[in-house]
Amino acid sequence: METNSERIPFCSSLKEAVSLACGGEAAVEKKQTVHGGDANDAYELFLSDGKRLFLKTNRISNADFFRAEAEGVAAIRATETIRVPHIHALGTGDGISFILMEYIDRAGAGRDFWEELGVSLAALHKAETSSFVNGGKYGFKSDNYIGAGRQKNTPGNSWIEFFSECRLRPQLELASDYFDSSTIMKANRLLDSLDRFLYEPERPSLLHGDLWSGNFMSDETGHPMLIDPAVYVGCNEADIAMTELFGGFDKRFYASYFKAMGAIPEYESRRDLYNLYHLTNHLNLFGGAYLPAVMRTIERYSK
Ligand code: ADP
Repeated sequence: METNSERIPFCSSLKEAVSLACGGEAAVEKKQTVHGGDANDAYELFLSDGKRLFLKTNRISNADFFRAEAEGVAAIRATETIRVPHIHALGTGDGISFILMEYIDRAGAGRDFWEELGVSLAALHKAETSSFVNGGKYGFKSDNYIGAGRQKNTPGNSWIEFFSECRLRPQLELASDYFDSSTIMKANRLLDSLDRFLYEPERPSLLHGDLWSGNFMSDETGHPMLIDPAVYVGCNEADIAMTELFGGFDKRFYASYFKAMGAIPEYESRRDLYNLYHLTNHLNLFGGAYLPAVMRTIERYSK
């Protein structure tokens, strides 16, 4: 597969992928489940030559998840702003689809972990974006996924329109069975008047896109890395909003991010609107527990 900056082999068996990854004869001796993800099965592979690899698998029909993940990782890597794992191979075979990558042997977070994460994310958000989207300022060169949900990335020149048509509207439409007619009216009102709340950013940013606390980690030396992105070019506030949805980011992260990026006036007034996208995706993927929060947000922004 050709991505922005790298060519990722596509294999027809895991054995072929492992052999490509370690450049030789090593075989998998042990496979240990890794918990913590939400869409795929994940494993640490122990090889006969003492090395380790990280493997995620899914049904063959979901092979596109991994094509999208590899493209997202490659896009972040191309910015040279924050470490992402090296992807050895993608593939389908033996009844599964898979992505095989370097295994990161996490050390505890280093002393300046949060400051570094903030500064690196700001650098990612300031990176040049024109090579990631063709025919518009916002979007991405291909569609991808948010967890197991589909994410449209049709290029466009208006952020507000992109957020409406490629983010909120598809999720709200998918969730319509949960809504009564009054909520549907309010959701439509909200979509029709997003420009009351959102603004067109000064510059587009490459976003991680799924920035919850399960999607960063510390590497072997305690420095931050990003994993499992759902990248697109959008407004940086959308990434920051998501860091606050489920918590887990230290205040030192925010201090260093905003120092590097500059303060964003009245960001708090838009945060929950951006997070309505993720909440509605959770409603669609995991069910009614998310409905009260979705309804509250629709109510608030449709007044
Ligand atoms: P999913 O796609 O199912 O959400 P993740 O990519 O989030 O899965 O990975 C699941 C967990 O595996 C993560 O929370 C993290 O703890 C761990 N992990 C992810 N990537 C690596 C890696 N390259 N090396 C070691 N552990 C990893």
